[in-house]
This record gives sequence, structure tokens and C-alpha cells, in this order.
Amino acid sequence: MKLLNEMLPSDINKIKMIVFDVDGVLVPRGTKIKQVGNTTTLETKVINEKQIRQIEELNKKGFLVNISSGRGLYMLQEMFREILPFVSLTYENGSATWYKGKIYQHINSFEYMQDIFPKLKKVTAKNKDVKGFEPKEFIITIHCKKMVQEIENLVKKEDRLYTVWNGEAYDIGIKRNQTKAFGLKCAMKIFKLKKENVMAIGDNYNDLELLGEAGIPISADKDRVNGKFYVPLLGKYLPADMLMQKILSFK
Ligand SMILES: [Mg+2]
Repeated sequence: MKLLNEMLPSDINKIKMIVFDVDGVLVPRGTKIKQVGNTTTLETKVINEKQIRQIEELNKKGFLVNISSGRGLYMLQEMFREILPFVSLTYENGSATWYKGKIYQHINSFEYMQDIFPKLKKVTAKNKDVKGFEPKEFIITIHCKKMVQEIENLVKKEDRLYTVWNGEAYDIGIKRNQTKAFGLKCAMKIFKLKKENVMAIGDNYNDLELLGEAGIPISADKDRVNGKFYVPLLGKYLPADMLMQKILSFK
């Protein structure tokens, strides 16, 4: 892995689309959630004005910008409201892509999630380490204070499902077909792009496969994911900020 500083304009001359993970890349890590009975409270993080301008600049320079997140569409729309005309949103770990008001659904998870959902509700109901279920349409996301064995055991019994712990929540989805990598492959078809045309930046375990599908993968946490380049974690700028500064300095 090379340091981002070593990136040259010639490294990115085939790149047409840049894919950004959200948490830990465009905003600091961590989603605040509170669930009391049937009331769920979620804090929406906002994207800094500076990153909004940088994404606008990338767009002006001809780059497509794709946001790839485990978050739900409603939340991403809220976060990126100002620049919705310039971005596509691939949400819930590659389940679907929103672009200019049109939704491209990449996977139908209904039958897969139907049985396990009530079971998960049941085993987590009285667990003090479980903070709550984040509202999602295609995947299941359970926020917890720490890893919860009951959740993992339940998912392990289902051959077709995976569970990923990202330090604050479990995402539960369909193996292979409900991942950021699968979502990227589908988005590449929408925009008629090849692997060599795509750069992606991510920081966490749910980005592993996503980075594998990109011609130029960028790691925003080299202890968790590998890339062709990496952004140092310690610094006053967010990883996406540093990457955009670098690319915008080229032309
Ligand atoms: Mg992340």
C-alpha cells in the first residue's frame, strides 16, 4: 500500500467514478441511536459544507460520484440533500441505487429476512447491550454496545445470511448478493463502467469486497482494509477530504 501523497495524475487517468463510503470516510464514525419501546431516535449526521463543495468540484471536473453506505435511503438523502443532482446513492450495503429520483433495486431480500426478523427481535428484546434496530428496508441493522453472541448464533444457523459487526452495529444481509461489492457491480452497469474506471474509498469490514471491485481501492483504515493507496487515520481532515484535495489538485 502506498501513502495517498504518492498518488500521481497518471494513476487515475482511467477513473470516471469515485465511490465513497460514508461513516469514517465522509463523516466521523458512529451513529447515535436510542430505542425506547416503540420509539426510535436517530441522530442525522451532516456532511460538512467543505465536502459538499469538493463533491461539486469533482462533478464539474467530470467525475461521477457514488455514495455507498449501509445506511437507509431516507438518511442519505437527508445528508446529501444539497448535492443530490450530482451523486448516486447506493444504500443498505448494495441493496439498491438511487439516481436522480429513480430507484434501481439490486436484490429482493424479503423472503430471506422474513423468518429471522422476529427471532432477532425476540432474542434481543431484554438484552441491555442492544441499543435498537435501525429502520431499514432490505437489510437488518442492530445497534449494540458490544458484540452479542445470541445475534451471531441465530444468523449462523441461516446458510444464506451473513452478519458483519462494525464496532457499533450488526448488519445482517444475504451472502454475496447484498454487499457493497454487488451494489457497485450493479451501479457500474447503470453507468456503463469497467472496473478500471472506478476508484473506491472505505474504512471498514463491510467495505472489503467493495474495494476489491474497484480499479483503485483506497483504504481509510489500513488496519481493517487493504487498498492500492491508504489515507493515514490520524489527521485533522476526514479521509474523503484528503482524497478529494489530492484529486482536485491534479487538474
Ligand atoms: Mg465506513
